[in-house]
Amino acid sequence: MVEKLRFRDPDLAKRVAEKIHKIAPKEGTVKICHVCGTHEWTITHYGIRSLLPENIEVIAGPGCPVCIVPASEIDETVQLALKGVAITCFGDVLRVPGSKMSPLDAKAEGADVRVVYSVADAVKMAEKEPEKDFAFFAVGFETTAPSTAVEIINKPPENLSFLVSHRVIPPAMKLLVEMKDLSLNGFIAPGHVSTIIGLKPYELFPKHYKMPVVVAGFEPIDVLFGVYMILKQLSENKPQLENEYVRAVHWEGNTRAQEIMQKVFGTVDGNWRGLGTIPFSKLELNEDFTSYDAHLKHDVKVEKGVDIQKGCRCHLIVIGKIRPTECPLFMKACTPHKPVGACMVSTEGTCRIWAKTQTC
Ligand code: SF4
Repeated sequence: MVEKLRFRDPDLAKRVAEKIHKIAPKEGTVKICHVCGTHEWTITHYGIRSLLPENIEVIAGPGCPVCIVPASEIDETVQLALKGVAITCFGDVLRVPGSKMSPLDAKAEGADVRVVYSVADAVKMAEKEPEKDFAFFAVGFETTAPSTAVEIINKPPENLSFLVSHRVIPPAMKLLVEMKDLSLNGFIAPGHVSTIIGLKPYELFPKHYKMPVVVAGFEPIDVLFGVYMILKQLSENKPQLENEYVRAVHWEGNTRAQEIMQKVFGTVDGNWRGLGTIPFSKLELNEDFTSYDAHLKHDVKVEKGVDIQKGCRCHLIVIGKIRPTECPLFMKACTPHKPVGACMVSTEGTCRIWAKTQTC
């Protein structure tokens, strides 16, 4: 089986898979949760689940930064676009459904919605057209938030403001651990996010919740090692924080990026689509930078959004309670071409990743 899965080193993968089978408990289920869209892509694309014993479940948590943007924040973007402000955003957020419209629907109605590859592109656009108002829809976890912060520190032109939808991962992991009916046994922590935040923010999981955490990289072998390391901790009854991704992640993380983020943003309670409000999980512009806040500048107000469309199970997908194939709309009413829920939009969304395996 391993040979068929295009591992860089199939022999090593085979040996790790064998070790996993040896160390896995013979009874009961072990549930390991990851919180990263790229991990889900690796796991699904390389068929990692098929290499594990049946009682070792690897589930996908809220690791897609686009999937968890609540409808109300999409609605704000749409509202702003329809008011005549040019919206700049990353391509994967374009088709995320709001309560009634996605940013792409607003574009179809004639609004000026432009895809950019970086915040710097949004700055350049605003500089080029000083007579026009622009807003950048800033979505993403700790990996992308520093690039937004850098541009804000560098004082972008006054005709550019920001709809900040950045979220931070550790508070969402805390929420998952505290969901008793989820019964998690360990976390594979996200490699990208950890390059920025380092390891310290995960310390509370083994200390306070007795929950093993292994930061893992994105090669299939990294994920297999991550699973093995968690099972080893469980077999020895020694929950701890370990770093499998030593080639990229260091204890203190990227301190410069952290400083910049802290200068520009503070954390406040934030709504996550399908998860509700998570304390201190959303980034908000600090007082010194509120002149760049699109809400204040353009008086954007949305009371409450409709996060989950009828029949959609995204609220269960983002906590790994069900698999995409268990949603009755999967690849019927909801496809990558015509997504109903947010998890089918971005290439980091669990439903979208699973859909790819059905179409390729
Ligand atoms: S398949 Fe579509 S409708 Fe179903 S949970 Fe996934 S995104 Fe939502």
